[in-house]
Amino acid sequence: MKTEPTESTVAKDELYVWHAMKRYQPETMVVQSGKGAWIADTEGNRYLDAMAGLWSVNVGYGREELAQAAYEQLKTLPYYPLTQSHEPAILLAEKLNEWLGGDYVIFFSNSGSEANEVAFKISRQYHHQTGNASRYKIISRYRGYHGNSMGALAATGQALRKHKYEPLAPGFLHVKAPDSYRYPAYHTAQSYSDACADDLEAVMEWELPETIAAVIMEPIITGGGVLLPQENYLQKVQASCQKHGALLIIDEVINGFGRTGERFGFMHYGVKPDIITMAKGITSSYLPLSATAVRRDVYEAFKGQEDYDHFRHVNTFGGNPAACAVALKNLEILENEQLCDRSKTVGASLLHELQGLLEHANVGDVRGKGLLIGIELVASKETKEPLAVERVNQVIAQCKQRGVLIGKNGDTVLHHNNILTLAPPLTLQEEDALYLV
Ligand code: PLP
Repeated sequence: MKTEPTESTVAKDELYVWHAMKRYQPETMVVQSGKGAWIADTEGNRYLDAMAGLWSVNVGYGREELAQAAYEQLKTLPYYPLTQSHEPAILLAEKLNEWLGGDYVIFFSNSGSEANEVAFKISRQYHHQTGNASRYKIISRYRGYHGNSMGALAATGQALRKHKYEPLAPGFLHVKAPDSYRYPAYHTAQSYSDACADDLEAVMEWELPETIAAVIMEPIITGGGVLLPQENYLQKVQASCQKHGALLIIDEVINGFGRTGERFGFMHYGVKPDIITMAKGITSSYLPLSATAVRRDVYEAFKGQEDYDHFRHVNTFGGNPAACAVALKNLEILENEQLCDRSKTVGASLLHELQGLLEHANVGDVRGKGLLIGIELVASKETKEPLAVERVNQVIAQCKQRGVLIGKNGDTVLHHNNILTLAPPLTLQEEDALYLV
């Protein structure tokens, strides 16, 4: 719908819309349209959206094919619950399984938070049904974000997001995430990463392995400031999970669908998760949809004949036919346009160009994989003291003035959101990439 750029649109926004978060910029931007990596607001300003919405519009804005897929499906069958089935859900589950390398069964929901809630419930019930009812604890990492609902927020390791909503769900524990830029002086990045993985195993032991249901983590921490693990970290985590009988849940809500240059982030690190959660890029965010992929042998435990052996989780909208049809078309675009490879190559050259910023006194680190990039701003390179948040906000405001929207993330308690983030559409054109640097 086209709206004339009137002041009243902004005034009505102030009056009626409760926004999710405080904006980086105080003034309202009413976004009206998008094409490729660019969006336009009602004032006629155009911006290169280097955050692809919320790290999520992977195939870019304005893809007619996706609108058409939704339209066709809505005409044919707009809705039926997955208490029965419909073709778009079946075809999409088959396709996702292929993308995951086989062996998974798919449960559909609507958001990343829900996909994680489903993963937690499945983990706990799985242990009940395999004779390990004492396993209920979920271990996650500080700095990781896993969603806004009570369980997903409990798994989240960012204190300020939880503050004023606690107590959340019980049974959630946190361990440190390795940070290859900030680690104690007596460590190297590698030895710190190994120590963090060892600590995770020690926590499992201290807590009693027979109480641990699952470990959840993103392959690369995104919202906590783009933290890339050492090559062997996830393998060590998986080995500890296997040794102590805990399920490994990998949160691919941002990492997935080509963001890091592979179909899924875990594919860089040689592990096979028990459960994989995904959302955002599954439809490039054109419609709400998420999925919890569960390894077939875990799923088998839900096929018993006892009362309540099935997964008692009803969900009205999950796997909506139009959302599934859009997801299928989205995956087709990702495949046909080889956007995972594109993310890898365009991301590598963008990262290389951005590393030129390291010459600046306030740029401490520039890191990334595929089209997922973090730029850590510091007051001093020697002390690594984070740059004051006001200065970080100034940088973001200057980028916006020059027509580029970037993100700001990090450890909200210790590092004051001092990490600039870039996660543009994977269709980013070379000239747009140049515009960014
Ligand atoms: N997991 C990760 C890694 C996320 O970044 C997010 C959202 O940003 C979520 C889960 C929650 O997804 P949603 O906002 O769709 O509930």
